Amino acid sequence: MNAEQEQAKHEPFDLPRLVRGLSLSLDPGAKPQDALDLLVQEAHAAVGCDHLFLSRYEAAGRTFRAVAWRSSVDPGDVPLERKFMGNSYFSGQPVIVHDLSQYNYRLRPGAARLCLMSMVGVPLVTGQGVIGVLEAFAERSDHFSDLDADLLALFARQATAIIERADCEREAKYRAAENEFLVEALKLEQASLGSLFYKVGETFAAVLGVDGIAVFGIEPALPDGQLQEVMARGFSMADIGRLKTLYGKERLQKLLPPPGGGRKDLIVKQAFRQGGAGAAKLLYTVPLVYRDSLQGLIVFHWRQLDKAADHDALENFIERTIGHLSMLLGRKDVYATIQRIGFYDLLTGLANRRMFDYVLDREIKKMWRTAKPLSLLMIDVDNFKAINDIHGHPAGDAVLQQLGAIIRDSFRSVDLTARYGGEEFAVILPDTDRVRAVSVAERMRLKVSESQFPVGKGFINVTVSIGGATWTNRDAADEATGERLVTAADQALYKAKQMGRDITIFAND
Ligand code: GH3
Ligand code: MG
Ligand code: MG
Repeated sequence: MNAEQEQAKHEPFDLPRLVRGLSLSLDPGAKPQDALDLLVQEAHAAVGCDHLFLSRYEAAGRTFRAVAWRSSVDPGDVPLERKFMGNSYFSGQPVIVHDLSQYNYRLRPGAARLCLMSMVGVPLVTGQGVIGVLEAFAERSDHFSDLDADLLALFARQATAIIERADCEREAKYRAAENEFLVEALKLEQASLGSLFYKVGETFAAVLGVDGIAVFGIEPALPDGQLQEVMARGFSMADIGRLKTLYGKERLQKLLPPPGGGRKDLIVKQAFRQGGAGAAKLLYTVPLVYRDSLQGLIVFHWRQLDKAADHDALENFIERTIGHLSMLLGRKDVYATIQRIGFYDLLTGLANRRMFDYVLDREIKKMWRTAKPLSLLMIDVDNFKAINDIHGHPAGDAVLQQLGAIIRDSFRSVDLTARYGGEEFAVILPDTDRVRAVSVAERMRLKVSESQFPVGKGFINVTVSIGGATWTNRDAADEATGERLVTAADQALYKAKQMGRDITIFAND
């Protein structure tokens, strides 16, 4: 091609515009995607072509993903083996094809339909290797010269710098969030599984910039579906219901790694219609698997996933965080064992269920010997689920901890204060008749209702309902088992709830 021909195919070369174009995308305050969109626009103008595409290359998935383009087509994701000239880019050198007609059988049908006749492509190269490619196509042959390749290379270098900087910043953000998660989660060690799941959801919500996220625990005992939501943002109650239906028993089973420990996909993608209508969105699901059993699910979606982001790095972040979670679950297992073989509840420091059963049995026998009355209180926090829902599981744990302290301080040292389970407490009161038991129970109930419980930046009030039962050796001998005393107090507690909560009711009231 002589100089005249060269001149003829281009608009007069616009140096000031080129310089401005190159400097525009250097604005450090700009969002990476905006900077790349701008860069593609300017490169398109500078090279004077029909289509221009900027793609990222993802080594893990061996795929090119279009990040920004000036074209009538959205090229989407193209696997390396189907990418035209894909392997050539790994030489790190620009590729120019003057006559594509010889190659059209290798071009994707969509591209072939555009009658693309010539192209130039410049790989984006960093110390890590090829991270993408900037490609220009023309609808006539012999459109591009070495000068065009050089021009495009200038833009490719710029794009590389923008992407590398964004990757670096994002990676720093991931690492910081991961560390914070670990530190916070280690503090929660003696807390519930729900608190850990909640924390993981918060971390993902803060870092991944998702538009909706929900974390579920798996409760096989639940009759209506197995999923119990621990936290949700950007999903309505109806969406949560739909998600629970979506993840029925069989589907959950499929999320488990195959027996024998093969590797399962870390992230499962599937379509979901939010609000039950409109366009389906891509829903990302991360199963929380521990010791071959499914413990929970993290589900999230982006309205528009950041195309320019390094998705490998994103998956690595998710994988590392889930790895930490798994380690924390392992430590929780150890705590649960200690709890089981021990006598004290680790969260509140009160006696645990095992100790409670043992002491109740002993006190009933003593009641027979001494003919002194024995009272039992069952205490259940009112509307505790709402506290978890509004303030989060960790706040719920803190409330239980403070309640435990109030309960312990409200009784004599000969009484046994226990955490019976979840948000229920129990108190065994030896040598205490019904009148006395009602009065100490009421004193404690009032103390709780007058206390302030710190959650986040503020305080909340908490109330408890109390069911009580008193036995003396005048009660029928064969009926006086610990189990029956608990049942009697429980029935009274049920009545207290029915009567509107924040009240003490005794059996036979
Ligand atoms: P009611 O007044 O009828 O008792 O209502 P409630 O919401 O307190 O009762 P419900 O039984 O529906 O909910 C109890 C909740 O307590 C559900 C469960 O997730 C939560 N929970 C149980 N154990 C723990 C725990 O150790 N920590 C936290 N944060 N929550 C817990
Ligand atoms: Mg309860
Ligand atoms: Mg309750």
